[in-house]
Amino acid sequence: MTLLRYLLVLFAIYLVSGTGGGAEGQDASARADVALSRNENTLAARWTLSDPAESVSFEGWVEPDERQRLWIPQGDGWFFDGNILVREDSAPFDSFELHLNPSDQIYDRRYVAILRIGERGWTVLTEGLSLEGHRTFIAADFDPEGEVFLVGNQRLSSDETVAAETGGFLYFGPERHVAEDHATMIAGPDIPDWMRAKFAADIDALSQSLTKRFEMPPKAPPVLVMSFREAERMSFKGSALGRFITLHVGGVELDRSDEDFMRRMTALALHEAVHVWIGQLYSSRENAEQSWLHEGAAEYISMRAWMNPEELRADLEDKINKCQLALVRRPLIATRYGSRGRVPYDCGTLVQLIAEAASLKNEGGDILSIWKDVFERAGNERTFDTALFKEAATATAGDGFADRMGVFETAMDAGEWASFLKGLSEIGIFVDLLEPAEEHPDETYLAAAALGALQRDVCQNQISLYQRADHYWTNISAHCGGQLPDDPELRHLNGVDLIDAPGAAYAEMRRACGADEAIVLGQLNGDQLAPISCGEWMSNLPALAVVRALPDLPAL
Ligand SMILES: [Zn+2]
Repeated sequence: MTLLRYLLVLFAIYLVSGTGGGAEGQDASARADVALSRNENTLAARWTLSDPAESVSFEGWVEPDERQRLWIPQGDGWFFDGNILVREDSAPFDSFELHLNPSDQIYDRRYVAILRIGERGWTVLTEGLSLEGHRTFIAADFDPEGEVFLVGNQRLSSDETVAAETGGFLYFGPERHVAEDHATMIAGPDIPDWMRAKFAADIDALSQSLTKRFEMPPKAPPVLVMSFREAERMSFKGSALGRFITLHVGGVELDRSDEDFMRRMTALALHEAVHVWIGQLYSSRENAEQSWLHEGAAEYISMRAWMNPEELRADLEDKINKCQLALVRRPLIATRYGSRGRVPYDCGTLVQLIAEAASLKNEGGDILSIWKDVFERAGNERTFDTALFKEAATATAGDGFADRMGVFETAMDAGEWASFLKGLSEIGIFVDLLEPAEEHPDETYLAAAALGALQRDVCQNQISLYQRADHYWTNISAHCGGQLPDDPELRHLNGVDLIDAPGAAYAEMRRACGADEAIVLGQLNGDQLAPISCGEWMSNLPALAVVRALPDLPAL
C-alpha cells in the first residue's frame, strides 16, 4: 500500500468520525472478543468485533514498532502500521487474525507483551490486546487436562473470558510451569529449579517482613514471570505491574556459583517485589516526574532487606558517586534531571538513606516506619507524593532530613557536593573524599564522565561519546569550534590511558583543572590534539566519595 493510499484511508476514517456523530468502532459499547490459540511458534489471536469497523486501533501498551514487526495480519489485503489496522480497500470488517511472535528487544521495553513459556505456555499482557473504543475480552484455547488459564487471582475454564482491562498478565499452558506458594511463579524449563526456589524464598521473606511492618498484606500475592534466553547481549530486565513481577535474563549463564550473577538477580527480584508490595497498597501521584521517590524506595528497601553491611556500604558508595556525577550543577527535585536513566535509582536511594539515618540519629524509626507513616498520611486516597514523604520523614528525622532535602532542590557544584557529603557525618554516614593524588577505582564510567564534561565545555553543552574496545569515539566535531577536530578516536588524557585506567584519567582531569593546567587528549593513532583549557564542567568533576561507615541500621 502506498503512503498516499494510506493517507486517503486515514482521511476517509477522519471523515466518518467527523460527520457520523461517532464513527463505527468508536462507540464505547462496542465489544471485541479475542480468541487465543497456539501455532507452532506463534500465538494466534483472532479478534471478533460486535460491529463492523473500517479500522481498529490498538491501545498504547505495546510499542507500535513491536506490533508492526511481530504481530502479523493473516490473509491478504491488510494494512497495519503497528497501531491502526485497515483493509487496503477500506472495506469494513468484523474480524481479523494476527499471529503474535514473542516480544524481542526485551531490555528496552517497559513491559514484555508476549512471552513463550517453555514449548506450550504463553504469557500475554492483557491490555496489549485492547482495541480503542471497544471493551475487549480474551478467551484461550487450552487443554483442561494438565493445562491452566490463569488471570488475575483465578484459574478460568475454557469457556470463560477475561476483560483485557483486568490488567497484568494472563498465562495459559502447562500447569507444570506454575508453582503456587506465597508467590506464584510462572517459568518454563529454561529456568532451573534452584532458581525458582531461590526467588520464591527471597520474595516470600520480603513479603513477610513488609506485611508485618506495614500491618497489611498486599491485596494479592505476587506473581513472578521469569524467562531466560540465549542472546549475544547480556541483559537483565525487571518490571512490576500490579501484582506481577517479570524478570527476563539473556546472554548470561544461569550459574548459581557465580556470585555476581546471583546478586544481580536477587537485587532485581527484590526491587520489583517492593514495587508490587507498595504499588498494590498505595500508588505514587508522581510516576514519571518524581520517579526518584518510588524507585529510590524500592531500591533502598530491597537493598536493606538482603545485603550484608559491607555489600550495602559498597553499593551505597557506588550510588552516591553516580548520583553526584549525574546531578552536579543540577537539582534533583521537580526537574527532568531527577528522572533520567539511573538517576532516580542512584539519587533516590541516597534520599532514602539520608531519611533513615537522620531518623535513627533522632531516635526515630527505620525506613519502613517512615513509609508506614507516609501511608497513614495518604489516608483513604491511597496515593503518596514527594510532599507526603517529606512530611513523614521530617516528622521523625527533623532538620537533619529537611535541610538536606532542601539542598536537593537547588543545583550543587562540585565544592558544594563535597561539603554536603562531608556533612553527612552528622547523621552517622562517614564519607571521605578522594584527592586526585589518591588511587581511584577503575570504573569505566569515570573516563566517560571526564570526556563528557570536556565535551560539554567545548561542544556547546552537547555530548556524543561511543565506547569502543580500545578507544572512545566522538562525532560532534562540528559543534566543538575546532577543539575536537575530525571526529577523533581518543585513547589518552594527559598521557593517562582512558581505557586501562579510567579512574586515573578522571583524577588527572581533576588535578589539572584544579591547577589551571590544560588537558591534552591523545588519539588512538598516537597523535595529540591541541591543549584544551578547563571549562566549568571540567572544573566541576566531583571528588569521589568513599563511604567509611554507616549508622547501625536495624534489620528490617
Ligand atoms: Zn523500579
